[in-house]
Amino acid sequence: MAEQATARSKEKEKTDALVTEITPQSEDFSRWYLDVVRRAELADYTPVKGCMAIRPYGYAIWELIQQGLDKRFKESGHVNAYFPLFIPESLLMREAEHVEGFAPQVAWVTRGGEEDLEERLIIRPTSEVIIGTMYSKWIKSWRDLPVLINQWANVVRWEKVTRPFLRTTEFLWQEGHTAHETEAEAQDETMRILRIYKDFVETQLAMPVIDGQKSDSEKFAGASKTYSIEALMGDGRALQAGTSHNLGQNFAKAFEIQFQGRDKTLQHAWTTSWGVSTRLIGGVIMTHGDDSGLILPPRVAPYQVVIVPIARGNWQETVLPRARDIQNELTAKGIRVMLDDRDAYTPGWKFAEWEMRGVPLRLEIGPKDIEKSQVLLARRDTREKLPTAMDGLAANIVSLLDTIQDNLFQRALQFRKEHTQRVSNYDEFKSLMEGRPGFVIAPWCGSAECEAEIKAETQATLRNIPMTGIAASGACVKCGRAAAAEAWFAKAY
Ligand SMILES: [Zn+2]
Repeated sequence: MAEQATARSKEKEKTDALVTEITPQSEDFSRWYLDVVRRAELADYTPVKGCMAIRPYGYAIWELIQQGLDKRFKESGHVNAYFPLFIPESLLMREAEHVEGFAPQVAWVTRGGEEDLEERLIIRPTSEVIIGTMYSKWIKSWRDLPVLINQWANVVRWEKVTRPFLRTTEFLWQEGHTAHETEAEAQDETMRILRIYKDFVETQLAMPVIDGQKSDSEKFAGASKTYSIEALMGDGRALQAGTSHNLGQNFAKAFEIQFQGRDKTLQHAWTTSWGVSTRLIGGVIMTHGDDSGLILPPRVAPYQVVIVPIARGNWQETVLPRARDIQNELTAKGIRVMLDDRDAYTPGWKFAEWEMRGVPLRLEIGPKDIEKSQVLLARRDTREKLPTAMDGLAANIVSLLDTIQDNLFQRALQFRKEHTQRVSNYDEFKSLMEGRPGFVIAPWCGSAECEAEIKAETQATLRNIPMTGIAASGACVKCGRAAAAEAWFAKAY
């Protein structure tokens, strides 16, 4: 027993030592990412392969993302509902492209209690088929349209290689599913959502994104058109941060979503679907973080300000009450504040801890500060230290948080500019993909063959064709035929 206990405590020491240090980004970006996720207590591995536990600090970020998006969805006329986790096998089989796209990643339920099921069930990898089936019951007339429903849910995709937040077997997301009377309305909806995603990710997560259309080979299984927002991570790889699909009448035909039109004829509805997931948290980590750990944009930081009282003399009688007053003042202004009054840790330890966990602003207060009626503010993004008067403190902090938010966005935008290059020939393309990573913009003829060869030879995928793209000119970077579009390529997560 004693031996076992010793072995276990040694094991624990080893793990503690491992997670205390964060691998520098330049040494191993992927290791750095995993260190930050665990050390900042965002998520942890579980005994279930490929599935993570999202810890309270990580979940608080997700809740802020949810609240922000949910508000935008509702403001644009959408409502929330909930659909089953299980989908009967026969339903999945009804849309051929959809089956082909998802079958390799599907988890099956074959038994219930003691009995084998008559029909196998899948655990939803996405919900088009079950929601489409319900819509076929609910939609009868053009008067029932549009239907604008969103679902907050978990989904399961059987992944071989997983990474917390970026790709896990089970993950959380929202999936919107809408049905419309006309093709034009469905297209408007698809674009409206893409704009909401771009605006949300840029203003709240401070992540600049390229909004554009996916090529046919990268579009969603069963969609007519897929659009995405693509961000650039700190290691120069792209991250697909959200997608919006115009499904045409494909799912309406497979699931008999039909309505009587204004002209009394029976017509198929036009549908869309769209989603973002907990992957966005991975994007935030990799867009803003540095060698000291996480850097959170104030608008999605669980704590925007951490107050660290300087423990000198009888600080609990002198400094702590003042710190509590400040906490209350800031809270009253709607600022999310953490007062770290634990006396088991030194102020120095707390500085390092909250810096690693990405809190945008640290507020230090000690006996000398109280004498001078000031506090010391330390910015996480620039590491500037700013002595600030207690008078008008809350208002100053509100504006400083906006400054930090903006600075993070500008910094990420600058990084993307520095890591985006336009090329006109394939040799240039290849050498860029081997060397300095980032986005490469190249003319493309529109053929899936060229796209596939580029991917095979350089590992770069066509991320999207921007909505605001420059009209294509010149020759396809791969085959030399006339270009149909200017496409953005990158190695991607
Ligand atoms: Zn070509």
